[in-house]
Amino acid sequence: MYDIIIVGAGPAGLTSAIYACRAQKKVLVLEALTYGGQIINTLDIENYPAAAHISGSDFAKNIYNQAKELGAEVVFEKVIDINDNINTKEVITQNNKYICKALILATGADNRKLGLDNEDELLGKGLSYCATCDGSFFKGKDVAVVGGGNSALEDALYLSDIANKVYLIHRREEFRAENITIDKVNKKSNIEIIYNSNVTKLNANNVLESIEITNNENKVSVLKVSALFIAVGKIPENQNFAKIINLSETGYVIANEDCHTNIEGIFVAGDNRVKSLRQLVTATADGAIAATEAVKYINNLK
Ligand code: NAP
Repeated sequence: MYDIIIVGAGPAGLTSAIYACRAQKKVLVLEALTYGGQIINTLDIENYPAAAHISGSDFAKNIYNQAKELGAEVVFEKVIDINDNINTKEVITQNNKYICKALILATGADNRKLGLDNEDELLGKGLSYCATCDGSFFKGKDVAVVGGGNSALEDALYLSDIANKVYLIHRREEFRAENITIDKVNKKSNIEIIYNSNVTKLNANNVLESIEITNNENKVSVLKVSALFIAVGKIPENQNFAKIINLSETGYVIANEDCHTNIEGIFVAGDNRVKSLRQLVTATADGAIAATEAVKYINNLK
């Protein structure tokens, strides 16, 4: 039996592991894919205190190694179900069943899709959710980014140094990205902003050839682009917990700053909980809080 099982090896989950190991607990981290979470797609982290410039992949590597060195066990298996047996929790993966005293859900969030007909088939054929992963394939080409948050604008900036031209398509007239990023976008001569428009069709002949956009007045136009980068936000990965954990209407785990869920002994940390600011620094802060609360809970078990 483990003291604490942490589901998810992103910054929140791995920070939980660091804190739980330092409190002398036996810790297992379960991760479906690879460690690091969303941050591995960020080229240069500028806003993490005392680490002005570090790549997302280096950040992930450092935090992973730190957790492992402190004694965390990390197993790459997808969690498909959890059960509450009051004083113990059961975590079921595709291959195994694990038991622990306290559980921390740190599964983060996955890319939101536009929901267009051939979106899945065109993935990797001109359609991408990760500019820093796939941008270099489109050197000197015309590309488009859809979205109006920090991710979309940062993607557009990143691509503007590689591509010939970047169309930035947003469904409203105002971006929700930070002003500093908006200023940088406005200064780029090869980024053309298209407001009040949605991407409504992907035209392809095996690979993406153009996109159709429809504006608020229902006027349709076609943009010839080699790639479309979709950055329209994330969806929390809580589907497998919904049976017992209270979720918000939009699928986030309902919890306060203390990271407690509705079930005693089950905690949440990071982007998959209801919160006002989803940043690296708030994810790691959650990780520390959730682990500290989990340790307190275990120490008080009779
Ligand atoms: P986000 O802030 O939720 O923005 C999503 C954007 O996509 C919004 O502009 C939204 O439009 C648009 N959108 C949503 N669904 C759409 C649809 N079906 N069709 C067209 N547009 C759609 O997501 P994000 O940019 O991925 O950022 C997520 C979180 O990470 C945020 O808290 C962000 O600040 C943070 N982040 C921080 C950094 C950084 O600090 N360096 C970098 C990246 C992300 P509306 O505006 O109309 O809703």
